[in-house]
Amino acid sequence: MPTPAEALDLILAATAPLPPVSTPLADSLGLVLASGIHSAATVPPFTNSAMDGYAVQAADLEAASTERPVRLRVLGDLAAGGVPSHVLRPGSALRIMTGAALPEGADAVVPVEDTARSEEGSGGWVEMRRPIRRGIHIRLAGEDLRQGQLLLKAGQSLRPGDLGVLAAAGIPTVPVHPRARVAVLTTGDELVDVSEEPGPGRIRDANIHAVCAQVRACGAIPVPYARVPDDRGTLMRTLKLALEADVVLTTGGISVGDYDHMKAMLEELGAERVFWKVAQKPGGPLGFWRLGAKPIFGIPGNPVAAMLMVEEYVRPALRKAMGFSKLHRPVAEARLEDGWSGRAGDGRTTFLRVVAAKEDGECRARLTGPQGSAILSSMLSANALAVIPAGVDQVAPGGPVLLHLTEEAEDH
Ligand code: AMP
Ligand code: MG
Repeated sequence: MPTPAEALDLILAATAPLPPVSTPLADSLGLVLASGIHSAATVPPFTNSAMDGYAVQAADLEAASTERPVRLRVLGDLAAGGVPSHVLRPGSALRIMTGAALPEGADAVVPVEDTARSEEGSGGWVEMRRPIRRGIHIRLAGEDLRQGQLLLKAGQSLRPGDLGVLAAAGIPTVPVHPRARVAVLTTGDELVDVSEEPGPGRIRDANIHAVCAQVRACGAIPVPYARVPDDRGTLMRTLKLALEADVVLTTGGISVGDYDHMKAMLEELGAERVFWKVAQKPGGPLGFWRLGAKPIFGIPGNPVAAMLMVEEYVRPALRKAMGFSKLHRPVAEARLEDGWSGRAGDGRTTFLRVVAAKEDGECRARLTGPQGSAILSSMLSANALAVIPAGVDQVAPGGPVLLHLTEEAEDH
């Protein structure tokens, strides 16, 4: 039986990044680039005004002052998106809006706040009361990005600002590792949909929501196959459909109960067992198979165990499939306020749901309540898992523990 670390190594060794797909920018937020991206354009593409004001020749305003304003002839108006039809000559100005192309001959823009307009004559006149530096309030063509410049490197995951730069740079699609499509099967004759009143002996299907949400939170796409009955024929048919996804997760039916068919079904389908059972609590009977290159996780049905397995084993694998190099959440050292005692000598690592917070410069963790693997309420306030190594049977109150931070909390 592998330890958690060995199980994770086996899983990651069997999981490869999905081949890159050219993806429209609109669908690529959070995805990882498979190759570097170079700008396809010069940005800005033309020299333009950085202010609403007047395009001028700075030399005209050298002697301008409040007492002796300089009057310039206004040639016309130019909005963003327009093309200048005039060449600017000495003694003239063009009313120009932010983003409009600078007319030939102009070398500065005077903000409209610094001017006074008089309307005599066709375009009118504008008065300037102080000198202006050449080049001011002008954005030069190419000052932001040069064509061919490296914008983003392979391995970077795309953030909103990156998408803006790529759009400006004329890159409509990007080579990224795609979102993994993850079939999520929940199994069990006892399960009903959340909106149904469970009859005698039945319970609502928590896993389809929790696990699909975990998959989605990884940036992957869950493909739900909810509440497959514990019946070999239906299971087999559903598994065959599910195997079209990149990764398959099943919950329930993985233990040693009389109706736990999952292991046998997967192996009948030709899946190769990498391991079944991990030396940990809760969630020991996790199984992992490969069918060709496809990873298949058989996860226990107890909702807390299921979520913990997805957190600790599936999430890193999905991140690897999606090309991330950082696969794991941050860890922290903490003091376990409540302390803990368990059974020594069973060789298992124990995961406890805790709520951790920084207090007086130290990270302190408290158990979120009873830790049974069916106690779903223990997830409500949890923001971390405390990891008690195999062989440790006691943590004194306030004793040190290692945390896996399951939320990217900023205060740790
Ligand atoms: P199993 O792993 O199928 O033996 O299930 C273990 C326990 O988890 C049983 O009490 C099941 O009723 C419960 N369980 C299994 N699947 C789910 C699910 N999708 N939602 C909530 N509880 C479940
Ligand atoms: Mg079951």
